[in-house]
Amino acid sequence: MPDVQVRESLQRARQRLADALESAGRPADDACLLAVSKTKPAALIREAHACRQRDFGENYLQEALDKQVELADLTDIVWHFIGPLQSNKTRAVAEHFAWVHSVDRAKIARRLSEQRPASLGPLNICLQVNVSGEASKSGADPDDLDALAAEVIALPNLRLRGLMAIPAPATSMAEQRRPLARLRQLRDDLRQRYPQAPLDTLSMGMSDDLEAAILEGATLVRLGTAIFGARTPRA
Ligand SMILES: *Cc1c(COP(=O)(O)O)cnc(C)c1O
Repeated sequence: MPDVQVRESLQRARQRLADALESAGRPADDACLLAVSKTKPAALIREAHACRQRDFGENYLQEALDKQVELADLTDIVWHFIGPLQSNKTRAVAEHFAWVHSVDRAKIARRLSEQRPASLGPLNICLQVNVSGEASKSGADPDDLDALAAEVIALPNLRLRGLMAIPAPATSMAEQRRPLARLRQLRDDLRQRYPQAPLDTLSMGMSDDLEAAILEGATLVRLGTAIFGARTPRA
C-alpha cells in the first residue's frame, strides 16, 4: 500500500472519531485512537507514526517483537498488547509493552507484575470482560470481575486503567450498544468500589462499532482495518 493511503485513512478515522464524539456531546479530546497494526508491516506503522499516531496495538507476540526491533528508533511509540495472553508469554509482554488490554485471570496478572522491570514503571492494565456471554470468547466472566480487579489493584507493578471487550458482531446500533453499555456499567461499579485505582479507560469500539462505542463512553477505540485496510489471513 502506498504511503498516501495510510495518511488518508488515518485522517478519515480521526474525522470519524471527532464526528462521533461531537454527536455524543463529548469533548473532542475525550477518546484516543489506538491503531491496531497486527499482520501489517513495520513500514505502515512508521508511516502512521509520521502522521503523529503514537499508540499501536498488536495481538501476536513474536510478530510484535520483530516490529519493535525494526522501529526501535521511534522511541515515543506506546505499544499495547491486545491479543490472547498465555503464561509463557507474560515475561516478554511485561518487558516490551506499556499496556496490556487482555488480562482475564489473576495468574496472568500476578506474572505480569512479578516480571515487570522496575525501570519501566507500572504496566497499564485493562481487564478483558466477556460481555456477550459466548462460551468460546476470551475475557473474564462479569461475575468474577470484582475479585479479579481487587487482585490487580493489590499488585505493585500494575495499574488498573479499565476494562476492554470484544463484543459479538451485531448489525443494528441498538444491538451494538447493549454489551458496550454493560462494560461501561461494570467499569462504573468498579470505580465506586475502588476509588484508589485510576479506572479511567474503556477500551472498546473497533472499525465496525466505533460510533456505538463512543456513545457508550469509550475512551480508547481500537481501529485496525479502518486505518490499515483489510488483513490477509495469517498462514
Ligand atoms: C484486530 C483487533 C481490533 C481491530 O479490529 P478492526 O475491526 O480491524 O478495526 C481491535 N481489537 C482487537 C482486540 C483486535 O484483535
